[in-house]
Amino acid sequence: MKIIKYIILILVIFLISLFVLSRVPAIQDRVVTNVIKNVLSNPVSLPDDGLSALVCGSRSPLPSPGRAETCIIIKAGQNLYVVDVGDGSISNLRNWGVDLTPVKAVLFTHLHSDHISDLADLHLNTWVNNPTKSEKLKVYGPEGVEDVVNGFEDAYKLDYQFRNEHHGNKVAPLNFAGYETFTIDLSNPIIIDDNGLKVTAFKVIHDPIEPALGFRFDYKGRSIVISGDTISTENTIKNSKNADVLFHEAQANHIVKILENENKKVGNNLAAKIMADIVTYHTTPIEAAEIANQANVKHLVFYHLTPAPRNALMERMFVRGVNDIRKEWTLSDDGTLVILPPNSEKIEITKIN
Ligand SMILES: [Zn+2]
Ligand SMILES: [Zn+2]
Repeated sequence: MKIIKYIILILVIFLISLFVLSRVPAIQDRVVTNVIKNVLSNPVSLPDDGLSALVCGSRSPLPSPGRAETCIIIKAGQNLYVVDVGDGSISNLRNWGVDLTPVKAVLFTHLHSDHISDLADLHLNTWVNNPTKSEKLKVYGPEGVEDVVNGFEDAYKLDYQFRNEHHGNKVAPLNFAGYETFTIDLSNPIIIDDNGLKVTAFKVIHDPIEPALGFRFDYKGRSIVISGDTISTENTIKNSKNADVLFHEAQANHIVKILENENKKVGNNLAAKIMADIVTYHTTPIEAAEIANQANVKHLVFYHLTPAPRNALMERMFVRGVNDIRKEWTLSDDGTLVILPPNSEKIEITKIN
């Protein structure tokens, strides 16, 4: 008993000292300096070779604390490609310390807000303070992408000037501010063919959003497919054949139904209507598992989760029945990292944060 009393006494003295010391300016300066030094000398790096994918946002527009809207960064060799940039995704990447200067292009699956809203933040973080910058940010997307990108350009052109006037041309070069836009034409589905990386666009079904796309990345014998927002469709199966990893969107309609019913009960009839409407243009986790099986995909990652689970109970509920269809799957979170070493069979799934 005496020992426990001593331990409690030491703990109390320790906590009081911590409380007092954390209010001393010299100590505050010392601690913050060390933290900054540590962050700057240990940047987060994604694998140097092969193909990898980092989930920078795992949710759909329905809110879920701690998750950003949809975003996946693909790294092929030294180059980065960003597939969709929903709200909060760039903030995630910056908080994790991911270097965005190697971003070669942004690819939009379609033009819903939860896939495009952080484009300006991505632009800022690839434009300023980037000594390797030699071109404008490339943006690929379906028909309509020109309008979207022009809108961003209009909204932010004063910002480009302000930053250039303040920091100068080396930090914020005006000639590389803004975007170069490419409208994807599905009669030429290979949209990028660069240094061994091949990116193929394919059509998915997300009516009434037309066209909506998925993308397949092939690099050094490894492959990743991203479904975009879609119902279960043959075209995803066709384009995912024998892929290493399929990132498929997933909507748990059994949870959406509860949201619809409960909104109706409290008189939120418009919210209830939205819940009823969205059932027609997404894929359930079980359907996604069936697609992965039919395409002979090695590993399935559920992303663009609707509604994204908020705790372990909801996670179990979300993937109810999936294990009966297939075993090789992962429910993504923000920070889920998939690593595919070059010319290998290995699939490593980990988490960055
Ligand atoms: Zn979406
Ligand atoms: Zn959508």
